[in-house]
Amino acid sequence: NFTAEVVPQAPEDPLFGLVRAFRADQDPNKVDLADDILHNDPELNHEYAPISGIASFTSKAAELILGGADSPAVKEKRVASFQTISGTGAVHLGALFLAKFYKGNKKVYLSDPTWANHHQIFTNVGLPIASYPYFSKETRGLDFEGMKSALLGAPERSVVLLHACAHNPTGVDPTLEQWKEIAEVIRLKNHFPFFDSAYQGFASGDLLRDNAAVRYFVEQGFEFVVAQSFAKNFGLYGERAGCFHFVTAPAPDAEATVTRVASQLSILQRSEISNPPLYGARIASIVLNDPKLFSEWEENLKTMSGRIISMRKALRSKIEELGTPGTWNHITDQIGMFSFTGLSETQVQKIRSDYHIYMTKNGRISMAGLNTRNVDYVAKAINAIVR
Ligand code: PMP
Repeated sequence: NFTAEVVPQAPEDPLFGLVRAFRADQDPNKVDLADDILHNDPELNHEYAPISGIASFTSKAAELILGGADSPAVKEKRVASFQTISGTGAVHLGALFLAKFYKGNKKVYLSDPTWANHHQIFTNVGLPIASYPYFSKETRGLDFEGMKSALLGAPERSVVLLHACAHNPTGVDPTLEQWKEIAEVIRLKNHFPFFDSAYQGFASGDLLRDNAAVRYFVEQGFEFVVAQSFAKNFGLYGERAGCFHFVTAPAPDAEATVTRVASQLSILQRSEISNPPLYGARIASIVLNDPKLFSEWEENLKTMSGRIISMRKALRSKIEELGTPGTWNHITDQIGMFSFTGLSETQVQKIRSDYHIYMTKNGRISMAGLNTRNVDYVAKAINAIVR
């Protein structure tokens, strides 16, 4: 039944292949600029969570992304929240829901570039994808005009995927003013916004600043969905803590809409995973529900993002000190964990073979992989290979 013609060998995921190559590399100077981190402690029983997840977690998760307990969406009970297998599972649940129930233009518009997994998550549930310009190679910043005109040109009621903050892989975010214009275009064309929030608190260190775009869409009364990951901001990568939120627009029957949508999400969730995992959600729930732990967490986020920001400064200034050809302001202009260095695929190969420095082949580095001990080495290597 399953010959090579029917089931061809799938290519290895490039990111996980990169991790494997890094682990196998014996060079003492090797530097991993692909992501890591981990931690935490237990308190377990092993009963099933409800299908929609741990309520104390999902309700606080909704508040976190939608603007607190006073968020109109939260207060007016216009939100259905489902705990998911981290952010990936949340994007998938949203994709599955739209594939089954969305009656507008089912094409999903993704930024070019975007997190590679977006392509296959939407395609795998049968939703066609298209792209909108996002990154300008010239400025290594946002191609705002390109983005706007593509969204204006897309058929009415298309699905538009937006990174809530710390765009992956470019580290380039719209300003709040630009978000307002994007919202205007989306409103004008009746597009359906699909937010992916994987880095709240990790970008600026400020939870409110990092959800400003989502809060603006709430404020403007949009109907939309959000996929929320707790992998990065809680260091819960492998525990798979995430949440999917459906937010309906203000309307007399909004609560009824949410009830109906939730009933269908329950069926989808049941057929996919039945019950979401407990451990990570428990940890997040404990922190989100305890004001003291919450403010400690906020401090941690500031430290972590502050470290990333200071590494950006260090890398840029060391590269500039060396008189490296080109402009390097994009390193500090970009935000969040990732930086699009602008290195070509050939340069990426060369820095790996000559200097044992690992980054994805599109030239994306994770700032979390830099530290005071290796930043000099990395700057020198970049200087050497771009010459
Ligand atoms: N969306 C984006 C844009 C991401 O960068 C990531 C993490 N790399 C995710 C979603 C989901 O990650 P996870 O499933 O680990 O939460």
